[in-house]
Amino acid sequence: MTAQKKPSTVTQALPYKRVLLKMSGEVLMGNQQFGIDPAVVARVAKDVKEALAMGVEVCIVVGAGNIFRGVSGASQGMDRTTADYMGMLGICINALALQNALEKLDVPTRVQSAIHMNAICEPYIRRKAMRHMEKGRVVIFAAGTGNPYFTTDTTGALRASEMDCDAIFKGTKVDGVYTADPFKDPTATRFDRISYMDVLTKDLKVMDATAISLARENNVPIVIFNIREEGNFARVLKGESNCTIVSNA
Ligand code: UDP
Repeated sequence: MTAQKKPSTVTQALPYKRVLLKMSGEVLMGNQQFGIDPAVVARVAKDVKEALAMGVEVCIVVGAGNIFRGVSGASQGMDRTTADYMGMLGICINALALQNALEKLDVPTRVQSAIHMNAICEPYIRRKAMRHMEKGRVVIFAAGTGNPYFTTDTTGALRASEMDCDAIFKGTKVDGVYTADPFKDPTATRFDRISYMDVLTKDLKVMDATAISLARENNVPIVIFNIREEGNFARVLKGESNCTIVSNA
């Protein structure tokens, strides 16, 4: 395990041909308190297009923290499973917003939902999703796993494993995993690389433990990077920007 100050020592292009981009719903609300900022969605879509132009196949899992999270509904007295289904519907709203923004940039995109809603999008069918990606289409996996009590981080690890992705790219507010919260602790240092086990034992807030365990079991590296900077997705893929790689190595 190595904790380092900036800049990154990961300076080579990352050897990934097929990646899953995971972003929380909060990314899409930009500086708003709630909902979707169309300008931010358009910018994220542009970033995805740049990655595709590099020959990388991209699929996406988005969350719904900008709309509704099951745990907050449950804490206000709602039945947890009902609240989680509401969260999953929130994910579908974000997925459609992303699809729309990508299609405006002429990027062919398919939404596949774990909960069937045939008038709106395709059902999740792994083989079909594979085919879409091979044809250069972006596939957005909506409605999480389709099960309550799970998160979209876990969905990301699951779909990345199913789709034989080379890595999960988790877009966050910061450029990697730090020893402490870099917004609160100026002495916090960033890891260039860290093992799944260290993330779990140190309880570092990368993704939830179920997601980390699933990625670890299936040996899918997780790349933590700053998705708020325009063009950073492609820069990280090229090895030109900071990130932290979580892997078994
Ligand atoms: N959710 C769920 N099952 C899943 C994925 C998500 O029930 O497989 C629900 C859950 O209520 C969650 C909400 O959808 O709170 C939004 O997902 P998440 O909290 O992961 O969104 P993010 O924090 O990434 O924006």
